[in-house]
Amino acid sequence: MYNIQKIRADFPILSREVYGKPLVYLDNAATTQKPRCVVEAITDEYYSVNANVHRGVHFLSQQATELHEASRETVRKFINAGSTNEIVFTRGTTESINLLASTFGEAIMSPGDEVIVSVMEHHSNIVPWQLLAERKNIKLKVIPMNDRGELLLDEYEKLFTDRTKIVSVVHVSNVLGTVNPIKEMIATAHAHGVPFLVDAAQSIPHMAVDVQDLDADFLVFSGHKVYGPTGVGVLYGKEEWLNKLPPYQGGGEMIQHVSFERTTYNELPFKFEAGTPDYIGTTGLAKALDYVSAIGMDKIAAYEHELTEYATQRLKTIPGMRIFGEAAEKGSVISFLVDDIHHFDMGTLLDRLGIAVRTGHHCAQPLMQRLGIEGTVRASFGLYNTREEVDVLVAGIERVSKMF
Ligand code: PMP
Repeated sequence: MYNIQKIRADFPILSREVYGKPLVYLDNAATTQKPRCVVEAITDEYYSVNANVHRGVHFLSQQATELHEASRETVRKFINAGSTNEIVFTRGTTESINLLASTFGEAIMSPGDEVIVSVMEHHSNIVPWQLLAERKNIKLKVIPMNDRGELLLDEYEKLFTDRTKIVSVVHVSNVLGTVNPIKEMIATAHAHGVPFLVDAAQSIPHMAVDVQDLDADFLVFSGHKVYGPTGVGVLYGKEEWLNKLPPYQGGGEMIQHVSFERTTYNELPFKFEAGTPDYIGTTGLAKALDYVSAIGMDKIAAYEHELTEYATQRLKTIPGMRIFGEAAEKGSVISFLVDDIHHFDMGTLLDRLGIAVRTGHHCAQPLMQRLGIEGTVRASFGLYNTREEVDVLVAGIERVSKMF
């Protein structure tokens, strides 16, 4: 049983109004709303535990450390990693990819080496590699897609050379909703002896993700997109890989011993966690993962799939509707344009009806270029959205269309 009314009641913000209209929040790919239990876990820790973690001898510090490390275990279990040594806390997906591009680039790549990404990457999985390309003269190769928004796997296979050092691809596109066949793509990379980074920012909130089943070498995601707080995220890396990489930032926490002559680094995962971690944020993230786990990731996936199907069918009845991304495997994201109504105008007018959607290039300008457009309107669903909200969206779009 998926008790949608009970779930909605867990999210206080969903009962507010904007412009005197009930809020219809359909911008979940940008960030998700927070259930009461997450906010309360954060507040409780500030009120009753707060102390800096690790090495503290006093009671509060030890309790805060226990909470922080228990959160790491919660993340490990959630993605089925083999060890908490493989769970590095970061500020989010973007920082996780920058950490990896920087350290992997430093340790493993030489001028002339190649990275494979796809045409549907978020800027955060393009620009860090371009920065590395500038520093180290490495090359980016791009997997193309068909007009439905599916990656061309034959072309992917052809991109491998003896200079390919890593593949970095998004699991679920934040624009097209395409669920890439990431397990198969990882197997292809491994057949060429190449490790694989999965950008799971848009999959972790919507489906069960098992890093061992996928055999992912690295996997990254953000807390705020999975009903957790902002400013905290995860880099998963296989221990054998993380051990090969140098530290990212220097400072406290990441060292074993410091002298002016020679400094040695801490063990995993602390080697990559310089400075005071967001130990309150990790508590919030763990609470959010417990929350979605209690509902059940498979149930969430099934509910959202059904809702997205319903929305797609309803949207298609609108004259002039163009949907971008019609992959066979699709997540709960729908990008569209109606006639020649500018995406920004559509978004602004829908907002006045209480409907929150995103407009623009969605941090995927190369993908926009491939689609031959400047931007789209994007409705993205979360575990608390309903068919009634889809109906409000459809009625809203019809109303805006008539105005033009
Ligand atoms: N990758 C994808 C696929 C995303 O959708 C996003 C967020 N829109 C990011 C990376 C970046 O995430 P963050 O801004 O939380 O670092």
